[in-house]
Amino acid sequence: MRAVWNENPVLRDVMAAAETCWINPKWEPFETVRDSLPVGPAEVDDAAARLDRFAPLLSRLFPETAGDGGRIESPLRELPTLRERMGWRERVPEGRLFMKMDSDLAVAGSVKARGGIYEVLKHTEDLALSSGLLKVDGDYASLADHRDFFEKYTVQVGSTGNLGLSIGIMSAALGYRAVVHMSADARQWKKDLLRQKGVDVREYAGDYGKAVEQGRMLSDADPMSYFVDDEHSKNLFLGYAVAGRRLAEQLKAKNVTVDVDHPLFVTIPCGVGGAPGGVAYGLKLLYGESVHVFFAEPVQCPCMLLGLASEEKDGVCVQDAGLTGVTEADGLAVGRPSKLVCDVMEWTLSGEFTIADGRLFDDLRELYAAEKVFIEPSSCAAFAGYRGLAQFPAARVYLEKHGLAEKMGNAAHILWATGGKLVPTEIRREYLAKSC
Ligand SMILES: *Cc1c(COP(=O)(O)O)cnc(C)c1O
Repeated sequence: MRAVWNENPVLRDVMAAAETCWINPKWEPFETVRDSLPVGPAEVDDAAARLDRFAPLLSRLFPETAGDGGRIESPLRELPTLRERMGWRERVPEGRLFMKMDSDLAVAGSVKARGGIYEVLKHTEDLALSSGLLKVDGDYASLADHRDFFEKYTVQVGSTGNLGLSIGIMSAALGYRAVVHMSADARQWKKDLLRQKGVDVREYAGDYGKAVEQGRMLSDADPMSYFVDDEHSKNLFLGYAVAGRRLAEQLKAKNVTVDVDHPLFVTIPCGVGGAPGGVAYGLKLLYGESVHVFFAEPVQCPCMLLGLASEEKDGVCVQDAGLTGVTEADGLAVGRPSKLVCDVMEWTLSGEFTIADGRLFDDLRELYAAEKVFIEPSSCAAFAGYRGLAQFPAARVYLEKHGLAEKMGNAAHILWATGGKLVPTEIRREYLAKSC
């Protein structure tokens, strides 16, 4: 713990593991910071084009994606019943309420289907082009016939669960040897599912940071092995960022306008930061100052909030703030944020909300009761932003300061649901019955 943290009321809440709202004091209009960020719009265009090139291959390897031409995308769903029911019980903001159903993404059942699959495809393209197996304008679908080529190579990753599922499933489908280093928080069913797909799952007693460290070390020692580095990977980030332009099409289809008079509020659950950071960046490229992006983290594991509010970025971990890092939101159980993501979000993130574990399950149940939608506990952190916007004084000050208070009737809110589809039935039942 650092003595100066006591002078910041939000960091005092963080250290007390109390639900809180942090408004980013360094926020700047996106146009003024865009060119100084460590990623650029051309890189997102390049990632989107690469995903298009690979669509025929995905369609062949995963027939569930064929209907959408090999594109892995999730629906945007309006939640009118939930909105009404929440409004009976507590203060919620004005405006329409939506959920982005990355919880239902094909292949990996979580937001990791964006970044994780993209990174395996990028690596695959690099290998196939440099070995002469493929030309850029060649037949990408034919890569499905070259398991003998890919089985000489290994792909490794450290994960709390969902990234492992995404990397493991995609790598195994192409024929790679896949090794997933799992942290202690990882759910048993996620390990079982991966082993069933032929993935080598290694388990570690320590936290996520340890699993990543081990994976990186073992992979670096093997010239035929590629390591997907969740703490530093720009490729993962770019795969997530493609979500922005696709969401824009869906908002149009639902007659949602986004401009200075029609603000869009998006809350995304955050672990190491790659997924929410990439999605946020993609949205900022499209909507600039009209989109207000908030991250949500568990009270025992708010690593990104701590890194940004203390300005120490990846130089701090939640244990430095006296927190356990232990949470039922296994996808968010990460103690130290990504430096790359801190560097992007430092000027672009509107703020953060934290949420207590017990509340995740209340929201999970309420969502299911109102809309018959199931998402995993980590995804439910997004609710913290929706209610928090109406309930925390600091959030109301943010709305006033940006001239948004009187525009809230025109607002749209998106809860970014990050995982859930692959949760087995008996575990769903357990979550729906659980209270903390
Ligand atoms: C991974 C994950 C997140 C957060 O993504 P990060 O890149 O770790 O920040 C959120 N929700 C779920 C369900 C996840 O699996």
